[in-house]
Amino acid sequence: MIPKTVKIGPYEYTVEIVPLLDAPPHIVGQHDPLAQVIRLKEGPNEGYLRSIFCHEIVHALLEVAGMGNDERNEEIATRLESPLYQFLLDNTNYFSE
Ligand SMILES: [Zn+2]
Repeated sequence: MIPKTVKIGPYEYTVEIVPLLDAPPHIVGQHDPLAQVIRLKEGPNEGYLRSIFCHEIVHALLEVAGMGNDERNEEIATRLESPLYQFLLDNTNYFSE
């Protein structure tokens, strides 16, 4: 289940699942570091949303790491989206207390 909020570094992001009508059709997620909001485009299933969510989390992690303006962000987020998703599925239990 996609949470309503998520903590990334020192920030508490609000997570919104919305139609994203104001974005071009190929945009399926948005990371807004100033408003601390992650928006996910309503999709056909939970797996789709989780995958987009992981992509936006990578953007937020890069922001926390001081790489928010790095021109490689989109490629990094796209490449790490699936590995992060799989890592979380396989290992989440190890990080909870
Ligand atoms: Zn992106």
